[in-house]
Amino acid sequence: MMTTQIPENLVGRIRVGNGTCPAGHSLMSENRKFDGEPAIVVKVRLAGHSGMLYLNPFYGKFEYESDISLNKGDVIEVFCPECNVSLTIDEQCNLCNIPMFAVNLPDGGQVEACPTIGCQKHSLRIVNLDEQLDRMYVGETKIQM
Ligand SMILES: [Zn+2]
Ligand SMILES: [Zn+2]
Repeated sequence: MMTTQIPENLVGRIRVGNGTCPAGHSLMSENRKFDGEPAIVVKVRLAGHSGMLYLNPFYGKFEYESDISLNKGDVIEVFCPECNVSLTIDEQCNLCNIPMFAVNLPDGGQVEACPTIGCQKHSLRIVNLDEQLDRMYVGETKIQM
């Protein structure tokens, strides 16, 4: 699988609509929304406390809400709220030198992000970008994955 750079003009327009854990559980929130769309929800752990973290589903936006207190520089551990599997991957954040976490997308793609609060390192891996964009555009200005 290769990483595809997302064109600047698509940042904030690609929306994760079907994010899952490696076991296939949906990571989309039923009750929290950002910009009118379901948030991505993950379970987080920090210094013995755990809680839920809600992320803006639009790629390139870094808005979040959490029910535990998070401060800039905190490094969280990220899990599936359903099965508690770790979402940590082998890929490292090249700014923090720690492993990133990932949300799986349909068709083998992945959104990867750094677990350091305030670090904006993230990337999107898509298989067959052109094909997916063609399929996802369908007369919409916002793309759902
Ligand atoms: Zn799961
Ligand atoms: Zn980082």
